[in-house]
Amino acid sequence: TDLSFSVERRPDPASDERRAQIHANPGFGVHFTDHMVTATWTKDGGWRDGKVVPYGPIQVMPSAAVLHYAQEIFEGMKAYRHEDGSVWTFRPEANAARMARSARRLTLPEISEADFIGSLRALVEVDEAWVPPADGSEASLYLRPFMYASEAFLGVRPANEVTYSVIASPAGPYFAGGLKPVKLWISQDYARAGAGGTGAAKCGGNYASSLAGQLEGIENGCDQAVFLDSASQEYIEELGGMNLFFLTRDNELITPELSGSILEGITRSSILELAKDLDLTPVERKVPIQEWKDGTASGDIVEIFACGTAAVITPVGELRWAGGSAPAVGGPEGGEVTRAIRQTLLDIQYGRAEDSRGWLT
Ligand code: PMP
Repeated sequence: TDLSFSVERRPDPASDERRAQIHANPGFGVHFTDHMVTATWTKDGGWRDGKVVPYGPIQVMPSAAVLHYAQEIFEGMKAYRHEDGSVWTFRPEANAARMARSARRLTLPEISEADFIGSLRALVEVDEAWVPPADGSEASLYLRPFMYASEAFLGVRPANEVTYSVIASPAGPYFAGGLKPVKLWISQDYARAGAGGTGAAKCGGNYASSLAGQLEGIENGCDQAVFLDSASQEYIEELGGMNLFFLTRDNELITPELSGSILEGITRSSILELAKDLDLTPVERKVPIQEWKDGTASGDIVEIFACGTAAVITPVGELRWAGGSAPAVGGPEGGEVTRAIRQTLLDIQYGRAEDSRGWLT
């Protein structure tokens, strides 16, 4: 490891009452814990100054490269409290590996797996009380590692000074009132990523470019947008923040293959591994948007769901596009297989099932 994390505790941490209040109604990404991690990288010196410090505003110069050229990446994961009080993360090595891939694409420095996991451990140790209690409610502490070009320089080149940070935010159950299918909108005018672009990296720019399509979807009565491959507009890629799966009546569990412009979700790869345990045949291939329209009409597609860290698994309902729609399949609370996969993942994450693959840290 390059980094060790010193701890500067805040003199005025939240009271037990305040934390309990937030845990009772956390929302998502609204409240933050008492501390955060920071570390700095320079071209000459590498990684140094790992610290856990009070959560608060950061200082960057107005000329910091990230504010102009978006040289920035991030990760998203959760810490789960088990029944015995212990706290766990799910496949953090996979997040570390993805952050390293994102770093290479954005010409940012890689942070080692040991330092990445060390930074999570350092923050969660200090802010452990912020991990919601194990009450069976799917609450967790969302962890957001991120890295940005903090060098004060307006030239367009990879920054020579970079800052790494981790913040944490209590997250409530995504579906407080039971599973409810999301309506999706096909974004035809706006792509989120293109061939050779940054779609496979978890960088802020991808999310900025997804917003216009998302907004168009919302204006058309949908919850989220589906993005297609930008070249042919024929193949399904993913949502703005989730991957997609289709279950056929032959028990094939199909997801769009990694095209170079799709983010490789850790939930997605976990589902592909779990599929065989559930007597499903996992398939990664190109999925034409026409197949969605035809398959929901013919009955070949029996369930559709989206997946990602935040919601775990979300049933997908109706699909709409400019001039048409395809009906929901799978029922008003998501299909049986959708719910079974969701439960399997949650049981592993919350320690209710055996972690036979060693996915928990
Ligand atoms: N696609 C995109 C564009 C995302 O932002 C995310 C969330 N990280 C996902 C898919 C799902 O990835 P994961 O399962 O690792 O959360």
